[in-house]
Amino acid sequence: MIVTRFAPSPTGKPHVGNIRTAVFSYLWAKHNKGKFLLRIEDTDRARFVPEAVKYIEEALSWLGISYDDEMVYQSERKEVHKEYAEKLVKEGKAYKCFCTKERLEKLRGEQEKNKRPPGYDGKCRNLSNSELDKLEKERKSYVIRFKMPDTGKAVWDDGIRGKMEIDYAVSDDQVILKADGYPTYHLASIVDDHEAGVTDVIRGEEWISSTPKHVAIHKALGFRHPKYSHMPHIIGPDKKKLSKRHGDTAIMDYRDKGYLPESMLNFLALLGWNDGTEKELFSHDELVASFDLVRVGKAPAVFDLSKLNWLNGQYIRETNTKKLKKEIETLYPKADIVKLDNFERILEVEKSRLATLEDITKDTDYFVKLPKYESKLLVFKKSTKENTKKGLRAAYEKLSSEKWEDDVEKLSNILAVVVEDTGLSNGDIFWPVRVALSGKENSPSPAELLWVFGKDESLRRLRKALRKF
Ligand code: GLU
Repeated sequence: MIVTRFAPSPTGKPHVGNIRTAVFSYLWAKHNKGKFLLRIEDTDRARFVPEAVKYIEEALSWLGISYDDEMVYQSERKEVHKEYAEKLVKEGKAYKCFCTKERLEKLRGEQEKNKRPPGYDGKCRNLSNSELDKLEKERKSYVIRFKMPDTGKAVWDDGIRGKMEIDYAVSDDQVILKADGYPTYHLASIVDDHEAGVTDVIRGEEWISSTPKHVAIHKALGFRHPKYSHMPHIIGPDKKKLSKRHGDTAIMDYRDKGYLPESMLNFLALLGWNDGTEKELFSHDELVASFDLVRVGKAPAVFDLSKLNWLNGQYIRETNTKKLKKEIETLYPKADIVKLDNFERILEVEKSRLATLEDITKDTDYFVKLPKYESKLLVFKKSTKENTKKGLRAAYEKLSSEKWEDDVEKLSNILAVVVEDTGLSNGDIFWPVRVALSGKENSPSPAELLWVFGKDESLRRLRKALRKF
């Protein structure tokens, strides 16, 4: 069975990149009818942000991603990690390092000066027993470092990149247990992946340089390492790695801006993956059915906001208006438009024009209050002032004398009858009625606006337009 995991470090609000990792790991597990686990990698106590766990869970649940089994807090397993670290020391595969912070800083300074790569120089690798005894008796604090092999290569078959080979020698001896007794990420994630039966580790390409260490530690512990798949970077339209500069990177900011979880999930899945066809709209279940790591590319994935907007518009159109209304009321309770009695109708007619839910709160003031507009806007470019006035008056009379129809199509038919009766053109009737109702050059159709405003308000706005002539 395929078992994947999402192993975020709880250091703040999850970013687009973190969550894409979760999405890919989730889809790969579910595609294979396997398990997707959630593990909070909180052993770096200095960077731990307690609310971050809540944010992570919120983001996953928003996107409709559920994890299997219980969520694991890595720090709660610190005794287990310690045992493994000590086992490695006993077997001569790791060692206690007593080097002080000052020494390490000095070492780094010298390496920098001599343009040498940074890294631990192995001073404590070969301490004699008597030296060790002495240091321990003095109760000097120490860390445990893993002895990286001096020769050989880490070789792995990357699920996305194929065969990978990196010399062990390029990695220095990593700290695996800190002086505070907490493991570092390198040890903890390996032990936890192993004990949880994780078969596939899917993560960002920034981890490639750490993989030789992981391969070596797995070997030293007698574990088989999982299959690694390193995903491509996400870049902005300027081809630079996605960062704050490009706008929002925190995933939940997208919810607040009015993106639907369906579009976000779809969009994230397309950041590096496609199904080999031109298809771009994938529901949750379709993603599970078609996702395949084989079709994840190595090339950086461009975060294209216009594509996200397009996808979001598609999903908004497909979503039930009542549901959208609820969502908008929760997101933007203070917006004037939300408080209108006819808000649901407004949404119904505006829905097809929205890229985000937030758009309904922008440029839609005309529903709340008729804006000021100039009389010449009422005149269609192929019409004349005279014909416009005639058309508008005829429409007004028909609408005020006929039984009011609460139906867009029937309202549209009434206007068509006015065109016929008067012998005027569409542009002499439909255009000015629409402008009279919205005060704007662009808006939904006149029949839709009549339906939204109802008889009284519609006639009031039409009278106002007639007074302009
Ligand atoms: N805790 C690591 C992170 O935050 C996990 C890396 C991995 O998936 O191995 O990115």
